Amino acid sequence: MPETSEQPAASRRFETVLIANRGEIAVRIEHACRDLGLKTIAICSEADRDAPYVRSADSFLCIGPSSAAKSYLNQDAILLAARLTGAGAIHPGYGFLSENAAFADAVERAGLIFIGPPALSIATMGDKIAAKRAMMAAGVPCVPGPDTALPDDPASVERVALDIGYPVIVKAAGGGGGRGMRVVPMADQLHEAIALTREEARKAFGSPSLYMEKFLQHPRHIEIQIICDGHGNAVWLGHRDCSMQRRHQKVVEEAPAPGIAPEIIHPVGMACVEACRQIGYRGVGTFEFLYQDGAFYFIEMNTRLQVEHPVTEMTSGVDIVRAQIKAAEGHVLDLTQDGVTCDGHSFECRINAEDPDTFLPSAGVITRLVLPQGSGIRVDTHIHAGYKVSPYYDSLIAKLIVHAPTRAKAMARMCEALAGIEIEGIATSIPFLRDLFEDHAFARGETDIHYLEQWLKLRRAA
Ligand code: ADP
Repeated sequence: MPETSEQPAASRRFETVLIANRGEIAVRIEHACRDLGLKTIAICSEADRDAPYVRSADSFLCIGPSSAAKSYLNQDAILLAARLTGAGAIHPGYGFLSENAAFADAVERAGLIFIGPPALSIATMGDKIAAKRAMMAAGVPCVPGPDTALPDDPASVERVALDIGYPVIVKAAGGGGGRGMRVVPMADQLHEAIALTREEARKAFGSPSLYMEKFLQHPRHIEIQIICDGHGNAVWLGHRDCSMQRRHQKVVEEAPAPGIAPEIIHPVGMACVEACRQIGYRGVGTFEFLYQDGAFYFIEMNTRLQVEHPVTEMTSGVDIVRAQIKAAEGHVLDLTQDGVTCDGHSFECRINAEDPDTFLPSAGVITRLVLPQGSGIRVDTHIHAGYKVSPYYDSLIAKLIVHAPTRAKAMARMCEALAGIEIEGIATSIPFLRDLFEDHAFARGETDIHYLEQWLKLRRAA
């Protein structure tokens, strides 16, 4: 556990945390708060009013109708709820308002503590060009390509692409969620790709600013978890591999990333820590990299708690949510880099309420639920038998996490856990995950970010 000094800066101390989120992460945050002796306030939409995790908070307030725009994304309603319930801090979880710099700023301006980094860090990392510039300055390795916005005139753009070398990828500076990017294999497709991406960026992200970088053809997705206390102390907690993706969405995550020699990753982790110090970061965060042919290339930083944080908790023994809350309170992190040790191997499967073949969302009532138990098995979830999965939100209903001394043993444990889980009444991704954990290339740890899509194609054809 990253134990910290007992006395936080008085100005940042709080006793009650409003959880501005729902589902499994609301449950996870509730546990961490209880562990720290903090009171919790749940907010919910009308669709979540009867959820047990809402009722198990010390108090709760229904803040709006089912639509996320009118509830979990409604900043005014959340701030009003905080005022009415006497909350001292707001934990945004992941998704929703967690990486909204204006919200973080509004929370602090209202005299509350935002459990996350300063608004300026969120804003810098939310602009991918500014993020790349900050990372290059801190010595973090980046994808080849300039740290400036693409110019308007066609001849200059062509020169940028030629300097990088085709294939290139054009990305929106304000992009996110796998949207606002386009691969350009050859020069004759450059101008059309830029026009389309610019238009998309303007509409979806409110800014036409684009940048260009080398398109890596067979990378893995490897990320580094960090914790900082805002007093200049920062550590990295090892690495994760999240290459198993469908439509840029992570499906299975593991820690550590297989086959990465410590001497290759160590300087990258240390550069991330240095970057955090340079930008005055506070709290938890993740540096995402593409890894190809033995080299790391930074793509973005997530300035929040991530869905896959449990695999790092399982290997490092650090309670990341607890550490995040303590950092927000102003405690000094007394975990040093030498004190970070990662043991064994951990996998996480995202269990979604969706058809295992078509991936279409599946809403409805869970009629029967059996969760696997046993040593090295953890399930983070908010569902129960009788729970109604609503069509309004993300389809994640549970995270199945395992830990074992070796990767092979952790895979075997995941197979066992997947065999033991039963969810009836709705369709889930469990049958697909069971098949995936039987795959030989996955077992060898040789899969890049395109592997799952190709595997799914073959599976459909079979
Ligand atoms: P977002 O913020 O939308 O998630 P990212 O920059 O993190 O965007 O990229 C999302 C995904 O797109 C990556 O995980 C990777 O699969 C792919 N990608 C992004 N940049 C590159 C690149 N330069 N080369 C190859 N693939 C890339």
